[in-house]
Amino acid sequence: MVIKKRNQLRGLLSELNSTVLFDEPMNKYTSFSIGGPAEAMVFPRDERDMSKIIHIARVEKIPLFILGKGSNLLVSDKGLHGIVASLSSNLSGECFRQIVQTKELNNRVYLYAGAGVALTRLLRFTIQNGLSGLEFTAGIPGSFGGAVIMNAGSYGKEIKDVLDSVRIIDRDGCPADIPAKDISFKYRGTAIHGKAIAGAVLRLRKGDKEKIEKTVQENLLMKKKSQPLNKPSAGSIFKNPGSTRAWELIDSVGMRGASVGGACVSPVHANFIVNTGRATAGDVISLIRQIGSRVEKDTGITLELEVKIVGK
Ligand SMILES: Cc1cc2nc3c(=O)[nH]c(=O)nc-3n(C[C@H](O)[C@H](O)[C@H](O)COP(=O)(O)OP(=O)(O)OC[C@H]3O[C@@H](n4cnc5c(N)ncnc54)[C@H](O)[C@@H]3O)c2cc1C
Repeated sequence: MVIKKRNQLRGLLSELNSTVLFDEPMNKYTSFSIGGPAEAMVFPRDERDMSKIIHIARVEKIPLFILGKGSNLLVSDKGLHGIVASLSSNLSGECFRQIVQTKELNNRVYLYAGAGVALTRLLRFTIQNGLSGLEFTAGIPGSFGGAVIMNAGSYGKEIKDVLDSVRIIDRDGCPADIPAKDISFKYRGTAIHGKAIAGAVLRLRKGDKEKIEKTVQENLLMKKKSQPLNKPSAGSIFKNPGSTRAWELIDSVGMRGASVGGACVSPVHANFIVNTGRATAGDVISLIRQIGSRVEKDTGITLELEVKIVGK
């Protein structure tokens, strides 16, 4: 039965012009360095192929997961059923990794970036071209598409503040450009009713290159001081509940430094769990449960996950 299903999946995906890898270990694709195999990992070559993938998944009722750079993910040890579509690999199409200036209006510059563009590359591009607006993203890993879906933010700013429109491929596989004002964004999330983000247009301002660079360096320095960047992690595990900081709550209940197997609450930042070498997703999940119940018992506050747990 399993073999029949696998052959059927192979057959369906052979219609694409894209690279497909089977049983690809997801720990290679996550910043946590954790995760079992993806049944079929597809690197869409262009929007047409991405549309076909969405169509195949819907018609054949195959689970489809869109992967950015895996910096906000905990993938289960058993991995992911169905199809994982990766837009931010060198094997993915150029259209998902391009940055193009689309318009200039007075002091405003509009940039289209593909969903697979690394946020760090996008930031570098804006610095080099004297464009201000993305300085707050300094030190946030991941892809541009992931940043849009997560409404990534720091220092009181969020991606939504600089978005003009988002190009989605909907559940029927059709592309559409949606004005950002018509999308509902929230703290670390969006209600984008599409299956995949292909790219988005940013609205930036012309600025002074040196000033932009200086702000970016200051922001990076603050991250370096306050985050355990030398160990694999997925950034903040929990969202901040209102104006309270999740790390302060975790610290206050004595969980800083707590560990399960290879997973440890970072001594540097109590809202980060780090993989000290051989952590499994199971270790991380047990630790998350321990933190959540201790915080709830001692403070009455229920912490909500920021990291996305996916898989079998
Ligand atoms: C050291 C460290 C520091 C961090 N600091 C911050 C921070 O300061 N602020 C912050 O906001 N975040 C931070 N993060 C979290 C993370 O970097 C962000 O959430 C990032 O935006 C995730 O992007 P990604 O490409 O890695 O997405 P992934 O982790 O690959 O995916 C995240 C979610 O987005 C979906 N997704 C990704 N791309 C697409 C697409 N093209 N179309 C549809 N769905 C898509 C995935 O299905 C998944 O549900 C940090 C993480 C680390 C490891």
